[in-house]
Amino acid sequence: MKKHNFSAGPAILPAPVIKEAARAVANYGGSGLSLLEMSHRGPEFTAIIEEATALMKEIIGLPEGYQVIWLTGGASTQFYQVPFNLLDNGETAAYLDTGTWANKAIKEAKGFGNIEVVASSKEQNYTFIPKKFSVPKHAKYFHITSNNTIFGTQLHKFPKSPVPLVCDMSSDFLSRPFNPEPFGLIYAGAQKNLGPAGTTVVIVREDMLGKVNRYMPTMLDYRTFIKEQSLYNTPPVYPIYVSMLTLRWIKKTGGLKAMHRRAKARAALLYNEVDQNPLFRGTTAKEDRSTMNACFVMSDKYTALEDEFMKLCKENGIVGLKGHRSVGGFRASMYNALPKASVAFLVELMQDFAKRKG
Ligand SMILES: *Cc1c(COP(=O)(O)O)cnc(C)c1O
Repeated sequence: MKKHNFSAGPAILPAPVIKEAARAVANYGGSGLSLLEMSHRGPEFTAIIEEATALMKEIIGLPEGYQVIWLTGGASTQFYQVPFNLLDNGETAAYLDTGTWANKAIKEAKGFGNIEVVASSKEQNYTFIPKKFSVPKHAKYFHITSNNTIFGTQLHKFPKSPVPLVCDMSSDFLSRPFNPEPFGLIYAGAQKNLGPAGTTVVIVREDMLGKVNRYMPTMLDYRTFIKEQSLYNTPPVYPIYVSMLTLRWIKKTGGLKAMHRRAKARAALLYNEVDQNPLFRGTTAKEDRSTMNACFVMSDKYTALEDEFMKLCKENGIVGLKGHRSVGGFRASMYNALPKASVAFLVELMQDFAKRKG
């Protein structure tokens, strides 16, 4: 049976991407070799990584001065690699604390400079995005998390900042158009909205770099990857290839505007049901609801039915709907590749369940 994949990550990828990725494992482009057994310095992979980087620049509309590099270690490595490269001892960086990942970024950064948390919704279990704060002008950068994967909130507008923004975009990367100019650095683990686990994209404005005095191991210095076009050492060949296929798919299916239109349509369909179905309720402030990760629980009167609804979903081929343990209930992750029909199917199950149990 075809599954409806609501997993938070690694997550659903476009069906044509999976199909082509499978072909490349067997025999890449008729070469008689699997992509898995080819040199990363051969002409095939050179063409792949060049296309991936070019498509990334084109799809986002990156101005001159921004570099795209392909790293490993996940977004979690960026929690320390960012301050390591951008923040000298004794300097200040501002952080917005909007969820578990933002909090981890803060914890790691504290080892490298003065970290000023300008606002936090931690006391309210991250159910909303704080909007009243001021960012100190002497900060080197202001770190934000565009989408809070675990709690299901999203910055629908990026905050005004007197200093360059640094953004963890892992879970809503390439889901909407945005103006890159306020950003000094953007990072995203591929496995939420771009490709398989194994590569992390970093987009950095070059003038952000080279301003700290500490010793830099070669592999931790972003400039190594810029200079060597991500080929200083062996890169994650296959995750970069599949990401390139997804980028082709994004371009072909209408770019970021189309991704955004579809994300809004999916989210409206699901939240509308959560709001009007008496058995369910949302867990976050409505204006901050994520288009990518929708968190909801059973209404107070019906909490005893949670397991039963989950079982019903499983029996009907819905996977990945279980909420993170820090929120409970359900989380429907609705990344770029998720067909609206999967959301419609989930909504139907919610309606049927309410008819029988309400
Ligand atoms: C998943 C996620 C991370 C962690 O990513 P890893 O690649 O597992 O390190 C960090 N930030 C956000 C917003 C995420 O969604």
